[in-house]
Amino acid sequence: MDLSEIECEQALRQIELYLDGELAGLERVDVERHIGGCSDCYGHSQFMSRLKEMLRDKCGCHDVPPGVAERVRALFAERGDPSITA
Ligand SMILES: [Zn+2]
Repeated sequence: MDLSEIECEQALRQIELYLDGELAGLERVDVERHIGGCSDCYGHSQFMSRLKEMLRDKCGCHDVPPGVAERVRALFAERGDPSITA
């Protein structure tokens, strides 16, 4: 493995910022590259992306309430399944 590549743990933390468009430059490139080569993190990014869309549609605002995101994340971690598609 290339030492310059970021780890899953780091990627998972960055994915949310990435989806919010808050990453720029190298950080963004690193996350994109990681997602492109890691099915687990790719699944997670797809899940998070859908989740954000869902919540956005529901509340009609552009920010997911922090409490909700935390609860869903906990649920997600409990299941330990990064490939949830429902
Ligand atoms: Zn990964």
